[in-house]
Amino acid sequence: MSNTAEEGELCIYTGHSLGRFSSHSMRYDSHQACVRCVAAAREGRLSFDINRLLKRERKRALKFWSQVDIGDPDECWMWNGCINKRTKQPQFAWRRHGISSSTQHHPQRIAMWFSWGDLGFTGVKTTCGEKYCCNPFHLIPQNVGVFVDQDSYMESFELACQLHTLKQQVAEYMIEEALKEQARMDESEEIDARADLLLNPDTGFAERFDAVMTDMLAGRHISQTEPLDPGLLRKPSDNEETNEEF
Ligand SMILES: [Zn+2]
Ligand SMILES: [Zn+2]
Repeated sequence: MSNTAEEGELCIYTGHSLGRFSSHSMRYDSHQACVRCVAAAREGRLSFDINRLLKRERKRALKFWSQVDIGDPDECWMWNGCINKRTKQPQFAWRRHGISSSTQHHPQRIAMWFSWGDLGFTGVKTTCGEKYCCNPFHLIPQNVGVFVDQDSYMESFELACQLHTLKQQVAEYMIEEALKEQARMDESEEIDARADLLLNPDTGFAERFDAVMTDMLAGRHISQTEPLDPGLLRKPSDNEETNEEF
């Protein structure tokens, strides 16, 4: 790794910016590894605490870990997410400006970023040799001179607590996502059912009137649709997708 550091992309960890209000971090010019994360990795520090990440990266971390079969520290944690059909390589989508032009990354590299630190395009090797293993205890960042003390990791109470919390957060995230998906399905079924009802010539006036009143009260009648976006139902303001708080 080069010893030259320069102003680079903001690190995904809090407190790693150049100044309190800066949107840049110091990164080594060879692999774009955050200087502060490298320092921590060299001391052998790793963490599963997603609250150490910038707020906007926490949901991404949960999304990532929800696709990993998180087991005990000494087990392999297999990747359950996307596998490229052509190359058979496991991958996770993330556009990281200034770090890599690639929009897909090997999950082992992502697991390294979310545990060992934002080490940019530093290589990562497994101690288990398992191509789909994302257990950070089995991952060794390359080129950093990382200090690995497996025994102390296995005995670390702090790491065990962090891991326990992470598993709970991932479980909550998955329930939340499943509920959202269910709501989306219910909504589209409701719309289909309504279309069937209104387009059916046998539907009586009372039923039709009832359906229209229900839709109007719910703000989703055709006369209430977005004028600039015909066909789109005007929803009660739904900020869920943009809300980063959780
Ligand atoms: Zn950093
Ligand atoms: Zn492994």
